[in-house]
Amino acid sequence: MRSYTLIAPAKINLYLEIIGDRPDGYHELAMILQSIALADQIDLEANGIELIRLRCDNKQVPVDKSNLAYRAADLMVSEFPDSFATYGGVDITLHKRIPVAAGLAGGSTDAAAVLVGMDLLWKLGLTKLELEELAAKIGSDVPFCIGGGTAIATRRGEVLSSLSDLGDIYIVLAKYRSLEVSTAWAYNTYRSLYGDRYIKDTESLAERASAVNSGEIVQAIIRQNVKEIADKMRNDLEKVVLPEYPQVLQLKESLAKYDILGTMMSGSGPSVFALCESKEKAEQVKLSLRNEIPDTDLELFVTRLITHGIQVAS
Ligand code: ATP
Repeated sequence: MRSYTLIAPAKINLYLEIIGDRPDGYHELAMILQSIALADQIDLEANGIELIRLRCDNKQVPVDKSNLAYRAADLMVSEFPDSFATYGGVDITLHKRIPVAAGLAGGSTDAAAVLVGMDLLWKLGLTKLELEELAAKIGSDVPFCIGGGTAIATRRGEVLSSLSDLGDIYIVLAKYRSLEVSTAWAYNTYRSLYGDRYIKDTESLAERASAVNSGEIVQAIIRQNVKEIADKMRNDLEKVVLPEYPQVLQLKESLAKYDILGTMMSGSGPSVFALCESKEKAEQVKLSLRNEIPDTDLELFVTRLITHGIQVAS
């Protein structure tokens, strides 16, 4: 039986601006998504029978049809019935390294890896664009996870434009293991508190465009100016998550005291990251934060920004 091992990187949001409501009920967003080296490993094996089977080494992760990796395999089955008839289904093994429900797109990147892996197993030869189109059917963050790197994402987050690569920047990532924030709760709460400020889709294109503030950070990325990038970071969801989760606020405040370039919550949280000038600086910050908050529930990682998405390891 043929098999592949894939590496599926997490992402952070360097920027997340909520622009307004969309007719489909989702939010209109402007986000800057950035891949990081912290990654899950996904083993895929053609099993020759008419079944998708899933295993995972993390009890927080469902192994039924609600798992995004399962949904990705199921989508491939329905899109390519002839390949399913020829090769059969897949056995998927998820080795989770990315904290779950953390705002790091852990489930989305696993789904992206399954799409890339099944394309190879079934010898389909899909293009990146075709894979991204399939990915958008699973979730808004999945298309980005295919190619990764640094990108600006608009609409629901599924329309991507690549930005210049950011190299050799390290981050400290902090997440309370037992703390989970529902993405749907965060967006719905934001809408109920700030929905009256949303840009209406009846306003002119020029007015709508002038309401988007991501231009400065995009320029800073193009100039590769890390200090400026750190200054221009923004996450609108902090306005609802930080008041509700004092532990997340405390993490941000603690990190801000150290010698870092900037700190921000990722996505809908509750993970918080700090941009650091060097690996050594990031290791120092991790150690200081560990001494300040010795709670064993607090997971800390030093990782770096990377320039790619899903990779085939073997
Ligand atoms: P995003 O940043 O895309 O909003 P997230 O990082 O906040 O995602 P995930 O780690 O994807 O969140 O987990 C969200 C929920 O999705 C979990 O509570 C879990 O029940 C479910 N889930 C489904 N599939 C997976 C998967 N492959 N890995 C992790 N969680 C999964």
